[in-house]
Amino acid sequence: MKIGVPRAFAYYAYYPFIITFFEELGLEVVVSDPTSKEIIDAGVEDAVAEACVPLKLYHGHVKNLMDRVDYVFVPRLVRVNQEATFCPKFLGLPDILVCTVENFDNMLEVRVDIRNSGKKLFQLCRLVAKKFNRGFLKTWKAFKKAEESYRKYREEFLKGAIPPLGIGVQDDKADVRLGVVGYPYLLYDPYVSLDIINKLIKMGVYVVTPEMVPEEVKKKYAGKLKKTLFWTFSNSVLRTAFHFLETGMVDGIIHVTAFGCGPDFIVDKIIELEAKERNVPFLTVTFDEHTGQEGVNTRLEAFIDMLKRKKAKEAILV
Ligand code: SF4
Repeated sequence: MKIGVPRAFAYYAYYPFIITFFEELGLEVVVSDPTSKEIIDAGVEDAVAEACVPLKLYHGHVKNLMDRVDYVFVPRLVRVNQEATFCPKFLGLPDILVCTVENFDNMLEVRVDIRNSGKKLFQLCRLVAKKFNRGFLKTWKAFKKAEESYRKYREEFLKGAIPPLGIGVQDDKADVRLGVVGYPYLLYDPYVSLDIINKLIKMGVYVVTPEMVPEEVKKKYAGKLKKTLFWTFSNSVLRTAFHFLETGMVDGIIHVTAFGCGPDFIVDKIIELEAKERNVPFLTVTFDEHTGQEGVNTRLEAFIDMLKRKKAKEAILV
């Protein structure tokens, strides 16, 4: 039995758990190919024109898998904590795909509404495992292994590594420390983000992303806004940005966003205004399926150059 996992959306946040769980159940896991022009083109062909690029990409990854596996795993991410849901694109993902991808009849839809409860997560795993006739003990062992795998993944980030991009612990003595905030399915997809993180590291930057900030630290900034945002990943991005701004731990912030992203209209503006108030350099980089390398490279080089000059000037004044 082969189970396909699209390399998009929830994949980048949770793949160690997902893959380990299915493998420990004794299923063969097939992850869709890394994003390429063919995958983007296939996605653009089916998705509605006004969809954000990550949603278009999801279509392409599903099409890359559906004919070579028994099931394609499509999580409907609703809530993983008590305070927020995911963006409506996540909530409606299985319905969207049924309507847009022709002959997609092997979807394994799983509704994820666990609200910080390990018990609920295990119950969900039980439901999935039952579809494949796996018993309680096998499911429990697979669940524990998946949890362990996810824990290690998170620990790697906290040490300064970026595992989805294969980046090990970064050099702490880099010239510039930069907060790079954005959704994991954009930041860690090197094709669609034009490999922005690796580019920055090659320019001598130490990159800090939202996944490298402990959850309990992010939670401290929950009260910074009068109202919590509705969306889980947006809260993570915004709280990380607040953490960077309030602690002064980075020399500047780059917000990586997708063209057509509804939540980011709000998130981007808030970060921009807060950074301006504290005089912290801030740059927004927006990606869609047409974004070209040259324009992004020029903007990044200019931004890093400006940060280095600013640091040098401040060093002289001290
Ligand atoms: S948060 Fe933005 S980029 Fe992510 S799925 Fe929703 S609209 Fe798309």
